[in-house]
Amino acid sequence: MSEQTIGILGGGQLGSLLCLSAKKLNLKTVIYCNDIDAPAQNYANQFICGDYKDKIKIQEFISKVDVVTYEFENIPFETLDLINQFKQVKPKPTVNKIVQHRLYEKDFVNKCNISTTRYVSIKERSDLNANVKLIPGILKTCRLGYDGKGQFKLNNISDLENLNIDFSQEYILEKMINLKKEFSIILTRFGHSIHSVYDPIENEHEDQILKFSKIPADIDEKILTKAKDWASIIADDLDYIGTICIEYFIDKNDNLYVNEIAPRVHNSGHLTINAFNISQFENHIRAICGLEKQELIKIFNAKMINIIGEEIVSYRLKQYSDNEYFFDYGKKEIKAKRKMGHLTVVEK
Ligand code: ADP
Ligand code: MG
Repeated sequence: MSEQTIGILGGGQLGSLLCLSAKKLNLKTVIYCNDIDAPAQNYANQFICGDYKDKIKIQEFISKVDVVTYEFENIPFETLDLINQFKQVKPKPTVNKIVQHRLYEKDFVNKCNISTTRYVSIKERSDLNANVKLIPGILKTCRLGYDGKGQFKLNNISDLENLNIDFSQEYILEKMINLKKEFSIILTRFGHSIHSVYDPIENEHEDQILKFSKIPADIDEKILTKAKDWASIIADDLDYIGTICIEYFIDKNDNLYVNEIAPRVHNSGHLTINAFNISQFENHIRAICGLEKQELIKIFNAKMINIIGEEIVSYRLKQYSDNEYFFDYGKKEIKAKRKMGHLTVVEK
């Protein structure tokens, strides 16, 4: 088992933290990323820089690894499918095909009899005029959006006049929810009904970017139980292997909705590194390498703050106490609205 080398597609902070967990388990890692400056190369045993559609580089990657996973969902399905013919990709590529497209993802969730916001597919401008009942709403690109990128808030249909929307792409229009709370459930699935479920994590967004996460979530127990059940149904239905995150909304009337599924480790789960005996990253590595599920134990309550853009400068200079864990992603360039690091504070 300790012979396995893990291939990871994507080289950001999630990749870095996956590599650190693999190292803890005495497993080797190869990062594949299209960014020559990918931070995860500093934590991996090997790094291959290449386009996600470069078949020659991908073959080189395949030859060096035993099992493959990914740290973000926008790897082309064809690439995952190709790799999977030689080395197992976990979670399996069909999971990605569903989840990397907001419309397929929401259709899938509803097929499981689980609630989402009301939504409709938007292919052209006239589809918006035909669906004003979903406005106020948010128009989102079906593919490649993250941290609020590719999203347009529409309070009125007339807001469209000021927006330059490229209708060569597919969109989804979602009814705006009157949000009371947001939270996430992180679960690692090892096999049918063999799940490790972390305590629900309450999340606060600023500018559609995650800013604060905490456990315990200050949310009604009944809602949390329902959300955990839904997460288990989703993971089993997808026949998922590894760590998955389900993002939820609660509206002002206490209705629960699935917002989106992340088929990977998740930013809201960074606090699991310091708050649990086994982090979401270690559990992901364990599951994809076929190791047995271990009992999950929460050691501390915790809070996490995402450090965005220029904020990183002052965090780099701070002194930290022994209940504070600062992690600098080591990104070469500081950009506005970009996640640069995080700080976890545990309650000792
Ligand atoms: P991303 O892929 O960028 O994370 P999300 O769909 O999760 O996209 O949207 C980011 C954030 O925007 C959400 O966490 C939430 O705060 C807000 N948001 C998205 N959709 C809605 C909605 N239908 N109603 C209210 N707020 C929303
Ligand atoms: Mg989201």
